[in-house]
Amino acid sequence: MALIVQKYGGTSVGTPERIQAIAEKIHRFREQGNEVVVVVSAMSGETNRLVGLAKSIDSHPDPRELDVLLSTGEQVTIALLSMALHRRGCPARSYTGAQVRIRTDSMYNKARIQDIDGARVRDDLTAGRVVVVAGFQGVDEHGNITTLGRGGSDTTAVALAAALHADECQIYTDVDGVYTTDPRVEPRARRLDRITSEEMLELASLGSKVLQIRSVEFAGKYNVPLRVLSSFEEGEGTLITYEEEEGMEEPLISGIAFNRDEAKLTILGVPDQPGVAYKILGPVADANIEVDMIVQNVAPDGSTTDFTFTVHRNDYDTAMEILQRVAKEMGAREVTGDTKIVKLSLVGVGMRSHAGIASTMFEALAHEGINIRMISTSEIKISVVVDEKYLELGVRALHEAFHLDEVPQTQPS
Ligand code: ADP
Ligand code: ASP
Ligand code: MG
Repeated sequence: MALIVQKYGGTSVGTPERIQAIAEKIHRFREQGNEVVVVVSAMSGETNRLVGLAKSIDSHPDPRELDVLLSTGEQVTIALLSMALHRRGCPARSYTGAQVRIRTDSMYNKARIQDIDGARVRDDLTAGRVVVVAGFQGVDEHGNITTLGRGGSDTTAVALAAALHADECQIYTDVDGVYTTDPRVEPRARRLDRITSEEMLELASLGSKVLQIRSVEFAGKYNVPLRVLSSFEEGEGTLITYEEEEGMEEPLISGIAFNRDEAKLTILGVPDQPGVAYKILGPVADANIEVDMIVQNVAPDGSTTDFTFTVHRNDYDTAMEILQRVAKEMGAREVTGDTKIVKLSLVGVGMRSHAGIASTMFEALAHEGINIRMISTSEIKISVVVDEKYLELGVRALHEAFHLDEVPQTQPS
């Protein structure tokens, strides 16, 4: 008998009919002799609707109350899914995050799971029930409801799988696996049978929202076998692997990620002296704003320089206010900004041992007349910032340049 944690995302439970279909699938799975714990998201659009409601009251709603509100979305789905299971004669019980006791820290809206008490879930499994758990939510040590950040149900599922030592954690969604890039942007994207957790982590952190980044971190930390599959069709999906396989040459590039949430700020004409980066970025960090890419120009001796960095678009206005204040204090010439930018990234562990990837990337973008505004690299990724209007064109050009629609040739080592 296997213990499987299954997670169904918003689209998969988006209508009563879909909830019935999912219940059917879970019921069959249990009939085959498996123990099943199910994690569900809110019905599609519901979390956005709740955010909109909160903002109609206050543009900056109180974070604690926002979590009280947002957690209701998942509570609706667990009850409906359990009812659909009961109708099929399948014993099931639903629990909110607090009822299971998914304990988190107190960072409202982006809480981290600290500990899960699996006893209640285990008792139900022993009694032959399917356990249905609300994703995306937990409770802090003072009993306050918290949520785990958008896409957080993935993390609930992986964390539960780790706590229960499940045989596999299956993330069911509206695509049939992890692709070389978002198939909604590049229809020629190819599904990957496997991807290393290192690459998946990089793709998720660079904007591929198919898995929440924390779920991949969690899976890696606790070695949870993790698979992404379709809620609607049969198939093997994509397995996240933890060891690079012997006898296989790693593909040069596994995938392309993009992030539409970026914004760029530049402070022009700052004195090129020690402490400049600190003076500019210190106050930004103090405001709890995460900075992503940073570029400082080289200045001729004794002259001034320009300093550019990117932040999440939601933080742009606050970062701009801070930068204008800093510019005045430092006697900088000007502050400029741009919210119409995106970041495109190539990811692949094979990059480690191959030169020339960056030049192929830059050539492909140049060929399409796409101007690169910023570049950053690490061992297994190259990211560029380009104008927002070039997102689709850029992704497709890179997909083509690296032949990602073709199954890579593998060779015995
Ligand atoms: P769910 O509601 O099931 O959690 P999400 O919308 O969060 O689903 O994630 C699934 C979506 O992720 C897909 O519909 C797809 O558009 C997007 N996506 C982005 N990058 C990728 C990728 N590399 N492979 C597959 N899907 C991707
Ligand atoms: N319902 C939450 C969201 O829309 C969590 C999730 O779906 O994973 O972000
Ligand atoms: Mg999701």
